[in-house]
Amino acid sequence: MMVNRRHSADGAQYGDQEYDAVLIGGGIMSATLGALLTRLEPDRSILVLERLDEVAAESSAPWNNAGTGHAGLCELNYMPDPADSTRAEEIGGQFRISRQFWQSLDDPGEATFVNVTPHMNVVFGERDVDYLRQRHAALQRSPLFSAMEYSEDPDAIARWAPLVMTGRSGSEPVAATRYEAGTDVDFGALTHRLLSDVRRRGVELRTGHEVTRLRRAANGPVFPIGAQFLRTGEPDVVSQHAAKVYSQADVGAPPMSVPHLDKRVVDGREWLMFGPYATFSTRLLTRGRLTDLFTTLRLHNIAPLVAVGLQNLSLVRYLVGQLLASRARKFRQLQRFCPEARESDWELIDAGQRAQLVKPDRRRVGVLTFGTEVVASADGSIAGLLGASPGASIAPSAMVELLSTCFPDDVARWRPVLERMMPDLSRETETTSRAEPRLARATAAARNGSARKDPSAS
Ligand SMILES: Cc1cc2nc3c(=O)[nH]c(=O)nc-3n(C[C@H](O)[C@H](O)[C@H](O)COP(=O)(O)OP(=O)(O)OC[C@H]3O[C@@H](n4cnc5c(N)ncnc54)[C@H](O)[C@@H]3O)c2cc1C
Repeated sequence: MMVNRRHSADGAQYGDQEYDAVLIGGGIMSATLGALLTRLEPDRSILVLERLDEVAAESSAPWNNAGTGHAGLCELNYMPDPADSTRAEEIGGQFRISRQFWQSLDDPGEATFVNVTPHMNVVFGERDVDYLRQRHAALQRSPLFSAMEYSEDPDAIARWAPLVMTGRSGSEPVAATRYEAGTDVDFGALTHRLLSDVRRRGVELRTGHEVTRLRRAANGPVFPIGAQFLRTGEPDVVSQHAAKVYSQADVGAPPMSVPHLDKRVVDGREWLMFGPYATFSTRLLTRGRLTDLFTTLRLHNIAPLVAVGLQNLSLVRYLVGQLLASRARKFRQLQRFCPEARESDWELIDAGQRAQLVKPDRRRVGVLTFGTEVVASADGSIAGLLGASPGASIAPSAMVELLSTCFPDDVARWRPVLERMMPDLSRETETTSRAEPRLARATAAARNGSARKDPSAS
């Protein structure tokens, strides 16, 4: 997603027409930003451009992502230190803001794209059991997670996740957490829902329109990591699993490669999905071009990219191992999770491409970021969003952050409307999103008639 807004010298122009904002890409991020802007400024002219003939066909398509409503409940990679729940709480707070925004939409509401699906962790072995016990104890201190259950009893865990426990010897230590009110989200359906809403409010959407040249460019290159999932729609298998169960990632695996077995609901049909398996392509979009990656390379950003490769040799080894893995080897990974899985029940499907941002760094030359990043030009006239997890789940917070970066003069005026839709934006608690302090700072700056934007946001 990328936004280009009108600024004094250089209008957001498409063809011979000027727009107040041009949103590039028909995915969840543009759809969310469009929905926010049309509520804040019903009279501004907004254009959405999508290169494909349909919207929500890249990362936001339901089978191109895992559909997890990331809320810090089951993602162990948000808490590498089991005693430090800061990141899990931050994402939990941002997901609450997403739910508030989705609930503020008119009918048809959340029920058409959100399914309540328990979020679980299951881990094996003394070391991981010890980790999960400490993580659970730390999370219990936050009101966001106080309803999370914990067990080391194999029978109780088998009742929560029978497919994961059936066929195991029972001698290995095991532990699980379970949060009943987790969610599976069809981000494709949500994107369609938001885009038809914004079109009704006057936004122009043009599909089959590719933006090929922008006058400003971000400084960092990107590192694409693709994914595959195993999927089954066999009713007798699907009926045995009603949760999203996340475990620990292999050594060297990037954080988004944590294996998980998920119940999914897409277009009203129930499925199970396992993965992800990492893939690599020089395409930045599943329907992009093989030359995509090379078009992002400039002389000044080759050094950060090479530095990232050298600093992440275990990641490189992991990716090469994944690329060479046969279907049979991938299936054995599922069997480690689900001992009685039958190969004939499962099909391998391609998922979306993640473009992870490589940032230039004074000390380390380049650093690879795994989160969701808003990147903006210094004057806020152009901004884009890169990265994956927590991705679509926190689209409303990410887009509020983008608004405060790109429209600092308007944000004070907009604040009451934003807070009416998403009351947690103004709540000074541990659930407060990263977006809120930015919004507060931008509001204060605008009130004082001072600085255009927070420099740390670019
Ligand atoms: C394997 C995988 C699993 C994931 N799992 C989860 C998950 O469980 N939960 C979660 O919250 N998030 C998840 N994510 C992240 C989430 O899918 C993304 O954060 C989110 O979909 C990004 O939305 P977007 O609108 O930025 O991008 P997209 O949905 O990819 O939309 C971008 C659009 O821009 C268009 N476009 C690109 N270039 C141009 C151009 N030059 N001109 C015009 N149009 C253009 C593309 O065709 C595309 O339609 C996952 C991602 C992947 C890849």
